[in-house]
Amino acid sequence: EDGLHTLGRWTRDRARATPDRVAVDDRGVTLTYRDLHERATALARRFRAAGYGAGARVATVTGNSADQVVLFFACAHAGLVLAPLSWRLAPRELADQLALTDPALVVVEEEFAVLAQTALERLPVPPGRAEPGAGGVERHVPPPALAPGDGPAPARAVRDDDPLLLVFTSGTGGAPKGALLTHANCFWNNLSLSRTVELTSSDVVLSVLPQFHVGGWNIQPLLAWWTGATVVLERTFEPGRVLQLIAGRRVTTMMGVPTNYLMLAEHPGFADADLSSLAHAVVGGAPMPDALLRAWHRRGVALTQGYGLTEAGPNVLCLPDDVARERVGWAGMPYPHVDVALADPATGEQLDGPGTGELLVRGPGVFAGYFRDADATAQVFAGGWLRTGDLAERDDVGCYRVLDRLKDVFITGGENVTPAEVEAVLRQHPGVADAAVVGVPDERWGEVGAAFVVPRAGVLTDAEELTAFCRGQLAHFKVPKYLEMVRDLPRSSLDKVMRSALGPGAAVPARDAAAAG
Ligand code: ATP
Repeated sequence: EDGLHTLGRWTRDRARATPDRVAVDDRGVTLTYRDLHERATALARRFRAAGYGAGARVATVTGNSADQVVLFFACAHAGLVLAPLSWRLAPRELADQLALTDPALVVVEEEFAVLAQTALERLPVPPGRAEPGAGGVERHVPPPALAPGDGPAPARAVRDDDPLLLVFTSGTGGAPKGALLTHANCFWNNLSLSRTVELTSSDVVLSVLPQFHVGGWNIQPLLAWWTGATVVLERTFEPGRVLQLIAGRRVTTMMGVPTNYLMLAEHPGFADADLSSLAHAVVGGAPMPDALLRAWHRRGVALTQGYGLTEAGPNVLCLPDDVARERVGWAGMPYPHVDVALADPATGEQLDGPGTGELLVRGPGVFAGYFRDADATAQVFAGGWLRTGDLAERDDVGCYRVLDRLKDVFITGGENVTPAEVEAVLRQHPGVADAAVVGVPDERWGEVGAAFVVPRAGVLTDAEELTAFCRGQLAHFKVPKYLEMVRDLPRSSLDKVMRSALGPGAAVPARDAAAAG
């Protein structure tokens, strides 16, 4: 019998309790809870028959889709791991993630076939057969050398601590790492969430976050599929369309990053949009600006704010709407079943009472570790606590506020970027002697990248060329928006570039710099 916290149980229970309720609405094509359970279990049987052993990875390159939801629950039933990879990546980046994921199967949606094929061709082993699959999904079956080597295994019951989701994140900086979330991690994240964001089977949840992020699963959609609610999946975030969907599908709740809510509020249709069904929405990933919060309050929508990170599964802190009004800029109090502490960043010693330190997290929702990266896993834990790399303040009632990031990451529209990764690409250009990248504040995206480049003597280059070069190698959200040629970079006595000395004021937009030559 499968473990009590395994997610395959959810579709089984729902197929009994609410078989005819719509579980997924994907561009008007719907799956009921009966359909979802039948398809997921049928696919799970095929995976087992094909010999995919426990823990084998099913990688995907697809937009948000009902097919991917079926795949998720098929993995849950078969004891496999779904690894949804980002279609925003450049082929080189996707190839690196595919190589690390080492999948038994790669499922590619037609729209991303060229991207995936280019990435697969960069792998040491040539891509395998491409089989046309159901629902416009092309299945690339890697040759045996790419298979996980787990071999055909006798089907065993799925355990609570079996991994279920492999989500890539830049973590505390450096190369992207695959965070493994187990069934139990997902179970407890959703249980915690359900204490604050209550859902019932009559809710209609709009999901706009990409399914290659943890927020595409653990913030609202999975809770909805546990509860019997309907999830309307949106593929790309187009504010006018989202406003229409809210009205047309009578959406009752949604989740997004502040950039999503800003784009909706700025849309000319916002003031007159029918938001009467939308009582409540969830926002996370960055603090919500006060003016934006008020714009949504004026439209009668309450906003629960959250703080989290992929490694925590992600839910850590929560700021309900009624509290948020008095606590602008705060991240909130811990969710139930989540322990939070502060540690002195220098000594690691935990602090009592009000104070400032690195935020630590502990609880059953915290991830199992980075896939095939014991060193990075060891570094992110300290004495059983997850180190968030965020500097936070705690007040006398135990409410937290994020003050700064200790880790080398900036966040643009909900996507994390590691400056070192962008710098490494810039340094590959023959015209670049050295480069430093920092995140600078941006009204729309929260932060954007600014690059300071030391040109190589005798090699002519300009901002336009460097931007194009970056675009060839990096996901577009990572490409610096500002680029400034400088004579040298400020360095510490240890020869480390002092990013803090590179301010936003100095850089000019990449386009203007290009025009200036
Ligand atoms: P997703 O990948 O679904 O966007 P996420 O934003 O929860 O998930 P990460 O991409 O891992 O997770 O980013 C986590 C980081 O985002 C945190 O460590 C913190 O620096 C920042 N962050 C998240 N929420 C907040 C918040 N409410 N206030 C300030 N910073 C936040």
